[in-house]
Amino acid sequence: MNLILLGAPGAGKGTVSAQLISLLGLTHVSTGDLFRQSIAEGTPLGIEAKHYIEAGCLVPDTLTANMLQEHLRSLSSSSGYIFDGFPRTIPQAEALDRILAEFNMDIDLVLLVEVDYELICERISQRRVCPLCGASYHLTLNAPARPGLCDHCAGELQRRADDSRETVMARLKTFEENTKPLIQFYEARGLLRRIDNSGPPEALREILRKVLST
Ligand code: AMP
Repeated sequence: MNLILLGAPGAGKGTVSAQLISLLGLTHVSTGDLFRQSIAEGTPLGIEAKHYIEAGCLVPDTLTANMLQEHLRSLSSSSGYIFDGFPRTIPQAEALDRILAEFNMDIDLVLLVEVDYELICERISQRRVCPLCGASYHLTLNAPARPGLCDHCAGELQRRADDSRETVMARLKTFEENTKPLIQFYEARGLLRRIDNSGPPEALREILRKVLST
């Protein structure tokens, strides 16, 4: 099974991914994580992607699709993937169809993770991430056991470089302009389901169970 997560920045695609992994055992693929890893390693791709990311813009489609294709070739999972943050444009969605065809795969389901923008801004301001293992925390709702330190690897928690208020506004605008058209694109194919992620994690789990069983 292959599943796409669509949603504005801060809507909780990472949280939904974590729950889906435990429910379905799919392999998680996040283009944002792949870019952050390339930036941390100082690769040519990371150097090129960095200024787009820090400005709250999208990395160009071809660069992003090529990175995803290479990554899938290195994984070659047979059970399927959760695509978290890809596609973000119509050309990327078309590229994904071509990339999956190489593996005789298709998209089975697209989940639109919905949260209103006020809550998104609050969640992002409270978000802290571990630069070592990528774990994500919310300072009040999902705080680490020891303040400032990752529960999994004791890495020092940080704010994401693109989580400043100004960059978040740019990212929301980018979502409106480039990614929202994907809602209709997948609705027309009969693949889209909506997930309300404004409640607590327990409520989300129930919502996911229901959507997956229909
Ligand atoms: P995320 O962690 O998914 O919020 O992604 C962080 C940033 O990486 C985004 O704001 C974009 O600048 C870049 N990025 C991630 N995925 C894509 C994509 N599919 N296309 C273009 N840029 C992306």
